[in-house]
Amino acid sequence: MPILLVFALVAACLPIDWPVPPFAPERETAAALTGGSVALVLALAFGLRTWVVVTLRRDPDRRIEVAQAYGRCRRLLFFVNIGAVAACVLSFGWGWLVRSQLQVQWNGESQLAPFAEFAVPLPYFVVLVGCWVIYYDAERALYHALHVGRRVFWPRHAYLLHNARQFLLMVLLPVGLVVTQQTLTRFAPETTRTDLYRAASLAVVPAMLLFMPLLLKPLLGLQTMPPGATRAHLEALAQRLNFRCTDFLLWPTHGAAVNALIAGLMPRVRYVVFTDRILEDLPQDELDAVLGHEIGHAKHGHLWFYAAFLALSLSVLAALGLLVDQQLRASDALKRPEYEAWLKENETWLALPPVVLVACYLFVVFGALSRRCERQADVFGCKSVSCGNPTCTGHDAATVFPPGGNALCPTGIRTFARALERVGEVPPPAAPEPWTLRRVVREARVWARHWLHGPVPHRVAFLLSLIERPAAEPRFQRRVFTFKCGLMLILTLALVALGETVGWRDLLDVM
Ligand SMILES: [Zn+2]
Ligand SMILES: [Zn+2]
Repeated sequence: MPILLVFALVAACLPIDWPVPPFAPERETAAALTGGSVALVLALAFGLRTWVVVTLRRDPDRRIEVAQAYGRCRRLLFFVNIGAVAACVLSFGWGWLVRSQLQVQWNGESQLAPFAEFAVPLPYFVVLVGCWVIYYDAERALYHALHVGRRVFWPRHAYLLHNARQFLLMVLLPVGLVVTQQTLTRFAPETTRTDLYRAASLAVVPAMLLFMPLLLKPLLGLQTMPPGATRAHLEALAQRLNFRCTDFLLWPTHGAAVNALIAGLMPRVRYVVFTDRILEDLPQDELDAVLGHEIGHAKHGHLWFYAAFLALSLSVLAALGLLVDQQLRASDALKRPEYEAWLKENETWLALPPVVLVACYLFVVFGALSRRCERQADVFGCKSVSCGNPTCTGHDAATVFPPGGNALCPTGIRTFARALERVGEVPPPAAPEPWTLRRVVREARVWARHWLHGPVPHRVAFLLSLIERPAAEPRFQRRVFTFKCGLMLILTLALVALGETVGWRDLLDVM
């Protein structure tokens, strides 16, 4: 979801001449329709919250059903919220209002004020914060119903801060970079045309990738994992697998999240993060398997590969855009007066298709790459808790684990699969149904939701199948290797071919 949001917000911040409201008086109409839409979606959120709270109070036994319905409705309302704000910007004149009102004089010209782009998606920010405030009660009621006798849910301000921090890091930071770039282009156009500036703006992305982990700790409020048995155990495993990182961090979420992640490309600025609840919910062997999965990402060089893939892909897409632009300009078809008039009127809208294209490309191609890498990390997670006996029936205190994590045994696979199911919070498997249109739609929705990792039941089924067919594991590794090499080869060839066609200097200028 965050990635869709990033692209939607970037699109809203583009220098587009948004249309005027449907009727006069324009300013009042835009403000009233936008305010009304925001109030409406907040009312929907309040309705959902009230249903959850009241139903759980009346009938706590329905907690599972309520939790599932709440999750479904919230996912649906996420799209409703985006749709409502898109309608405000596109049809109700909110985008026009912001762009026409927030003007300043600069060098004798009227310009959009610095960072005023953020005001275009402002209705979304209002809806978002409003939803956090409203859903808090529903989340608290659900938490207490599902985890009877456990700790209390966190206070409202801490819940708001937790959500705001994630939003700031995952969504607002990348959008902020785009807005900063546009502000500089408006107010210091000469500077943005120098080679030094271009080189610096290209270097921002790798610099962020390298040093982002340092920001992660203060931005998300992460803490060093306290010394103790758990930490010592994880450190010993990291040592056995020859893995180095700066620190193991604890993410206090008041039990809201069962998750772990790795951040950082180099051992000196690399962290492995565990949420509080994953440390509480998972037994030690499963925690080891989860750490093994995160280490697997580092051992297979996934983060480096992602960085190279994104850099190459964005260069190829930029070159592709340039090629289309050059071809259109050269063709006679567009020189006809009716096209030229149309183009002049709608020129600013041409900023939109590239954003949609990049979003679709990432969803399809990066999704396919990421799901394969997740599976590779899953297999490494199994290996990290496997002994050297490929037919073992269980592990005990005397079990010897090979250094480096190169073996695969049934117990290791089962341990990791259990951890995955617990982290994914998957419901018990339902009876298989025939392929109807309904099932196809549902499966497509599940895959779309898990586009980065793949659905947990599929991942678990693949891992368990390796118990019966150990030879499938090296085959799988070879397939992923071929996929990665092929992808990089295609992208490199495409970049060279496109660069030669459009001219490298011109390509550098549009980057
Ligand atoms: Zn992973
Ligand atoms: Zn074993």
